[in-house]
Amino acid sequence: MLMMGPRHSCGVVGVTADYDVAPNIYLALMIIQHRGQESAGISAYNGSNTRTIKGDGLVENAIKAESLADLPGKAGIGHVRYGVVSSKGYANAEPMTVTTNFGELSLAHNGQLTNYSKLREKYMDEGWTFFTETDAELIIKILGKYLSIDKDPFKAVKGVMDELEGSYSVTFMINGRVFGFRDPQGFTPLILGSIEGGYILVSESTAIEALRGKIVRDVAPGEVCEITKAGYRFTPLITDRPCSHCVFEWVYFARPDSIIDGMNVYEARRNIGSVLARESPVDADLVMPIPDSGRAHAIGYAIQSGIPYEEGFMKNRFAGRTFIMPEQKQRESAVSMKMIPIRRTVEGKRIIIVDDSIVRGTTLKILVSMLRDAGAKEVHVRIGCPPVVAPCYYGVDMKTREQFIANVTDSIEEIRQIIGADTLAYISYEGLIEAVGFKETELCAACVSNKYPTRIDGEKYMYD
Ligand code: 5GP
Ligand code: MG
Repeated sequence: MLMMGPRHSCGVVGVTADYDVAPNIYLALMIIQHRGQESAGISAYNGSNTRTIKGDGLVENAIKAESLADLPGKAGIGHVRYGVVSSKGYANAEPMTVTTNFGELSLAHNGQLTNYSKLREKYMDEGWTFFTETDAELIIKILGKYLSIDKDPFKAVKGVMDELEGSYSVTFMINGRVFGFRDPQGFTPLILGSIEGGYILVSESTAIEALRGKIVRDVAPGEVCEITKAGYRFTPLITDRPCSHCVFEWVYFARPDSIIDGMNVYEARRNIGSVLARESPVDADLVMPIPDSGRAHAIGYAIQSGIPYEEGFMKNRFAGRTFIMPEQKQRESAVSMKMIPIRRTVEGKRIIIVDDSIVRGTTLKILVSMLRDAGAKEVHVRIGCPPVVAPCYYGVDMKTREQFIANVTDSIEEIRQIIGADTLAYISYEGLIEAVGFKETELCAACVSNKYPTRIDGEKYMYD
């Protein structure tokens, strides 16, 4: 069994400008809040040292807006964490900061290392000590080691990349210089933008637009980028690996208004919907999304099929996340508190509902029965991602095979019966790849294909 640090597919930011940057980092973190709600933090460098404010929960709870005045500095980084209970608490929150003999180093990480345990053991055998079980602590210490030796951040990042395996997009700051780098297979996103008086590196492009900036380009897999208030410098470090962009970013994880590696997320989701309509048509009166994650998929389905699009569920926008609740009972009652059908829309109707994915099946089982209670005549379910069957080792919180409904049933027919739908269809694997607009070999779709783009003990390697 592979042991790993806490799971996290988070969000990272780095900004340099000719004014105090903490307020812009704060805004950027709010824009990428969907990437992590467990904790948030900002570190800023004031010309002589680095100060950090971080805490549990949403950005606005973790960092009081008034306290941004205590974070002066024209360079800074930020982080939002998506994690589980075991990774809660101040010690695990990022950015982390350490002192090296080259200067003060702060770091924020998005992704998950697959050789975390091996590396940690190796360094513990060499006498290193650790405060946490986070990837970030391991990365910052290895980066600190190379910075102390080489005194050259570009060389140091190369040293780090040579040691790490798995997924990582990192922003870091050393003596007020800000850098970002992306793992050589480009699992998680990282993009550069210009903003007034400076530059930003951030997980999703929408944050650049929210700051009224301009996208420069994605950081390429295996590349490091330094930003200053006046410019940027890209240096490719590892360029000979296959690309493995996480397909789930387009299916579910990222904001629809973001552009990742050149592909707009909304467009990808609309394409998914239209492929679904082509592959699995059905006669019905209306198409409805499961808000918010299934909305763009449903729009694509409606346009392609010519069946009217309607909103039939109202989502309580103040409800929290249901997906990561530990108990099935809690998840179920949370789903029914979160989504209420509009009887006027659904009564007596034949309905197609479209959602991005089925993981455990909790959401759909409850929502289909609510639709029936509200008088729906037929409920046809269409899903924008093939059955999730394999754990993600790269940061998405889907870890054990037994939690997936597709693995504890024998057929799609059995899943249809469990969720109580009249018909159920998933997008095909080929259809998903086509919709997202990349070649199969440019994506990681291990969660649905069961083939992994890096070597992982006990799992099938995609390139064998
Ligand atoms: P299920 O209810 O089948 O277990 O999960 C599917 C639902 O959860 C979908 O509506 C999808 O939008 C959402 N979902 C899928 N993956 C994730 C994830 O990694 N985190 C969270 N919070 N929600 C997810
Ligand atoms: Mg959803």
